[in-house]
Amino acid sequence: MTADSRPAFGKVALLGIGLIGSSLAHAMRRAGLAAHIAGYANQAETLEKARAIGFADTLHDKPGPAVRDADLIVLATPVGAFGEIAKEIAGDLKRGAILSDVGSVKTAVVRDVGPFVPDGVHFIPAHPIAGTEQSGPEAGFAELFDGRWCILTPPPGVDAAALEKLKTFWQRCGSQVEVMDPKHHDLVLAITSHVPHLIAYNIVGTAADLETVTESEVIKYSAGGFRDFTRIAASDPTMWRDVFLNNREAVLEMLGRFSEDLSLLQRAIRWGDGDMLFNLFTRTRAIRRSIIDAGQDIAEPNFGRIKKPPK
Ligand code: NAP
Repeated sequence: MTADSRPAFGKVALLGIGLIGSSLAHAMRRAGLAAHIAGYANQAETLEKARAIGFADTLHDKPGPAVRDADLIVLATPVGAFGEIAKEIAGDLKRGAILSDVGSVKTAVVRDVGPFVPDGVHFIPAHPIAGTEQSGPEAGFAELFDGRWCILTPPPGVDAAALEKLKTFWQRCGSQVEVMDPKHHDLVLAITSHVPHLIAYNIVGTAADLETVTESEVIKYSAGGFRDFTRIAASDPTMWRDVFLNNREAVLEMLGRFSEDLSLLQRAIRWGDGDMLFNLFTRTRAIRRSIIDAGQDIAEPNFGRIKKPPK
């Protein structure tokens, strides 16, 4: 066994075994990162699904027994539940353990979890920038984090060895790792993820409420661009409610900028300013190219949905 193939952790506890928690379990299994994976979920039905898939060694309906003797604990429920869970497990955490999470916001996680972290436990928040619009234990897969970024937001004075261990862990799950300040993380993610989700929820909601266009027409002609918004707007309602409630400041800041720019577009259309529209659309096309060049998406037209006939 080489040094790199040895399990990095003895026991890993996943508190939340939906899309992200179960994907992490699959990725850990693939890389042989844990000698024992313990999972916790709220509902019997979720635990039953996880048992049938078999990505965890033990499953628990309470977080305390799941984290006992764990070397790494990952909070993977919607962020609104983190504080309560952190409070409940505080007395069960092992000295020297790393407590982390996968939450989509970071300042609120530091605020809600930080006060319950016992001395001797290394608290290092994390956010894998990877996901799909699906949820639940059956939605997870080992490749979810491959080539995706994982942002760590360690507190000042963090134990260097613990940070290094978590970095290596995410790299072995397939990710590239970046370290960031939690406030900056929330600002960046507000514009790259949170506001785009809000726009998608809004446009799909607007279309659903239109009286002059029927619902069947919206569905029938959706390929014109609307369909891509519906994918994002199908994301988990609990998770996204918690994201907006817990990243209020940064989302409102970015939404303000977005509304100003939208007003400029409205004005350009009203006054027939084609140059303004053309210049903006040229700039945005270049951004799409940069995303493809960075390996964060595929170059195929229409996300590869159109199958070309073989030549
Ligand atoms: P998910 O598929 O809906 O899974 C959520 C899990 O948390 C389930 O196991 C659920 O168990 C459990 N849970 C829900 N409410 C709970 C509560 N009040 N107390 C205890 N357990 C609870 O969600 P997900 O997509 O994996 O998201 C999990 C976390 O990852 C969130 O914090 C999210 O911000 C973050 N994240 C998500 C994405 C994404 O694209 N989805 C990407 C990056 C990060 P039950 O079914 O038993 O309730």
